[in-house]
Amino acid sequence: MLSDAITGFELLQPATVEDAIDLLDRYGREAWVLAGGYDSLDWFKDRVKQPPVVIDLEGVRELRGIRSVGGGIEIGAMTTLTALERSDTLRSRFSLLAEAAANVASPQIRHAASIGGNVAQDTRCWYYRYGVACYRAGGNTCYAAAPEAMNREHAVFGASRCVAVSPSDTAPALVALDAEMVIRNTRGERTIAAADFFMPPSIDIQRMTILEPGDLLTTIRLPETWASADFYFEKVADRQSWDFALASIAAAFRMDGPTIAEARIVGGAVQCVPRRFAGVERMLRGESRTAAIAEQAGTLATRGAEPLGRNEYKVVLVENLVKRAVLG
Ligand SMILES: Cc1cc2nc3c(=O)[nH]c(=O)nc-3n(C[C@H](O)[C@H](O)[C@H](O)COP(=O)(O)OP(=O)(O)OC[C@H]3O[C@@H](n4cnc5c(N)ncnc54)[C@H](O)[C@@H]3O)c2cc1C
Ligand code: SF4
Repeated sequence: MLSDAITGFELLQPATVEDAIDLLDRYGREAWVLAGGYDSLDWFKDRVKQPPVVIDLEGVRELRGIRSVGGGIEIGAMTTLTALERSDTLRSRFSLLAEAAANVASPQIRHAASIGGNVAQDTRCWYYRYGVACYRAGGNTCYAAAPEAMNREHAVFGASRCVAVSPSDTAPALVALDAEMVIRNTRGERTIAAADFFMPPSIDIQRMTILEPGDLLTTIRLPETWASADFYFEKVADRQSWDFALASIAAAFRMDGPTIAEARIVGGAVQCVPRRFAGVERMLRGESRTAAIAEQAGTLATRGAEPLGRNEYKVVLVENLVKRAVLG
C-alpha cells in the first residue's frame, strides 16, 4: 500500500567524516543525517518528514568508540548506547552516563541507537509528531497548551509558546557532567558546552539543538571535572520495559567528608531542554545529605513550576527525585 510506504530518497553513505560534511554542505537543508534511525525512521514512516537526501553515518568508523584522553573521555557520536552502558571506562569513572544510556528504550534499540542520535532526537509531542502545523512546525499555535489538550507528558518549567520536552535520557547526564559537544562543518570545528547544545524555544522554536543544516556532531567530551564523583540517576516512566521518561534526574556530588563541596542536579523531560536546578546546587554547597536538607532541596526545585492541565503530577515527581538524589 502506497500510504504505508516511506517516500523515496537518495541514500548517500560516506565512509569518512570529511566526506560526510562535504555531502552535508552540498545538500544543505535537503539532507537528513541518519544514525541508528530510531527517531529518523519514525518521521519517514509517518511521512511527516520527507527529506530528498539521507546521509547515512553507519560506515563512518571514526565516529565510533570511547577513548580516554588525559583525565577525561571522548565518545564518538555513532557509539551505540549499548557500548556506553557496557564500557568499563565509563562504569568506573562516569557511571552517571552509563546508567542514563542503560535506561534508554529497550536492549534491541540501544544496540543500534547512537549517543549522537539520542541527544539530537526531536521531541515526542503527539501533536507535532502527527504533523499538525503548530509553532514548532512553523504554524501559529500550540495544540498541547490548550486546557483540554493531551499534555500529560509536557513541560512544567520554562515553556515559551512550545510546551514540548526534551526526551533524551542521556542529555541530563551530559549536562551534569559538564560535557562538551564537538561539531564540524565545512567551515571548521566548534565545541559547545552540553548545557548550550539544547535549544530553548524562546531562542529558536523550530530546533531542539544548536545543530544547523551542514553540521555534524562528531564527538562528545567528558572533562575530568566530575570523574568518580558520587552519582545518582533515576528515570520515572509509565512502563518499566521501554518508555520515554515522565521525569528523570541526573545528579553528581563532589563530597568533602560528610559535606557536599559541589553538586550538579539536572532534570529530564520536564522542560524543553535539560533543566539544571542551579538554585538547588547553590543551596546544597556545604550541607550534609540529611533528610532535612533533601526536603529543602526538593521544595526549592519545584519553585517556578507552571504545570499544564494534565501534568501537575510532574511537579511532585521533580520534588521527590531531587530529594532521592540528595539522599543517594
Ligand atoms: C520504541 C522507541 C523507544 C524509545 N525510547 C527512548 C527512551 O526511553 N529514551 C530516549 O532517550 N530515547 C528513546 N527513543 C528515541 C530515540 O530513537 C533514541 O533515543 C535513539 O538514541 C536515537 O538515536 P539514533 O542513532 O537511532 O538516531 P537517529 O534516529 O538516526 O537520529 C536522530 C536525530 O539525530 C540526528 N543525528 C543523529 N546523529 C547525528 C550526528 N552525528 N550529527 C548531527 N545530527 C545527528 C538525525 O538527523 C535525527 O534528526 C525511543 C525510540 C523508539 C522508536
Ligand atoms: S508543544 Fe510544541 S511541538 Fe507540541 S503542539 Fe505545542 S508547539 Fe507544537
